[in-house]
Amino acid sequence: MKYLRFVKNGQNLFGVLEGESIRQLDSDFLNESAKFTGEVFQLSDVKLLPPVNPGQVIAIGLNYALHAEESGKAIPDEPMIFMVSPTAIVPDGEEIVLPNLDHRIDYEAELAVVIGKQAKGVKKEEALDYVFGYTACNDVSDRNLQKKDGQFTRAKSFATFKPLGPVIETELNPNNVEIKLTVNGEVRQHSNTDDLIHDIESLIVKVSEVMTLNPGDIIITGTPSGVGPLKPEDEVVLEIEGIGKLRNKVVDGSKQAGLQAEEPHTA
Ligand code: MG
Repeated sequence: MKYLRFVKNGQNLFGVLEGESIRQLDSDFLNESAKFTGEVFQLSDVKLLPPVNPGQVIAIGLNYALHAEESGKAIPDEPMIFMVSPTAIVPDGEEIVLPNLDHRIDYEAELAVVIGKQAKGVKKEEALDYVFGYTACNDVSDRNLQKKDGQFTRAKSFATFKPLGPVIETELNPNNVEIKLTVNGEVRQHSNTDDLIHDIESLIVKVSEVMTLNPGDIIITGTPSGVGPLKPEDEVVLEIEGIGKLRNKVVDGSKQAGLQAEEPHTA
């Protein structure tokens, strides 16, 4: 099933997507008691929200061999784990705002795992039992800051740097789906999650060895080769087989309030 969150008549609602129709749920789908209300909306009549509002966004670096190679890094023998702020998340259709046009800011197509029940010290054979479903995430990254800091949090946590959606698909083999990203219609990344160095079960095991995962938390699982820079006016489409298309336009945020040095006060 395809689960989503949306706004209608000023209310944040939950639902299941069937074709172009949304069947409303009476509460959050992460809660097992959610029921259909009987209300149906058309997808074209609502505004999508990110399909989940995670407490934690756990990210995995260098999880496709060809991407490790293009980054000039060795393949890690264990998943490389870091965290980014959930406040960077935006839904399908919202703009990616570039705060500094002098920096190289890249797209990164990734499969995101949405946790369905609390997980700690999970065994590999049970790992997928803790998953609610899967969605797409564009792990937008400021390479200048990533290099300068040596830590990834600042480079990857600016507002709008984590487009997420459009829906959460629950029926998916996460270790064999096609993943593709286009910029202005041109294919830039095209791979399959069967190329992951550490598969989805291994990621859940390794992350849950360290921290407790709660329902709604997401793990973004790394990007394939072909990463490259974004510029204002670019139209980015991240498509994952079975999930759909996450579309976001890029805009210049260098002149937006709060993102640049203040004008000096004049008398
Ligand atoms: Mg990434």
